[in-house]
Amino acid sequence: MAIAQIDQFTQALTGTMVQVIVVCAILVAVVGLPLYWFRLKVEQALICAIRSARARRQTGKSAASANESVATPHCPDCSALMVKRVARHGSGAGSTFWGCSNYPKCRGTRSI
Ligand SMILES: [Zn+2]
Repeated sequence: MAIAQIDQFTQALTGTMVQVIVVCAILVAVVGLPLYWFRLKVEQALICAIRSARARRQTGKSAASANESVATPHCPDCSALMVKRVARHGSGAGSTFWGCSNYPKCRGTRSI
């Protein structure tokens, strides 16, 4: 009689365990899969955001360099691009000015 009761108890226990496992599997399928899908979407969005930020930074850099080339004047004598130089001699020593990039062939200068 006692053994039969234990048997019944074990059967009930295994039955409950099987039910718990089945419920867990259903939960994983119902909640886990959408969560996994959601995580994939979030990762993709993050990667997209990082890529676009990187691209924006690069375009900003190229725009800045374009601005620089726009701001760089051309030599009045030979129309080559000019470079910033620091005067070493003369009354304006230490001050910056635009000097021709063809220096010393061309000695054209512009004040900044
Ligand atoms: Zn020049």
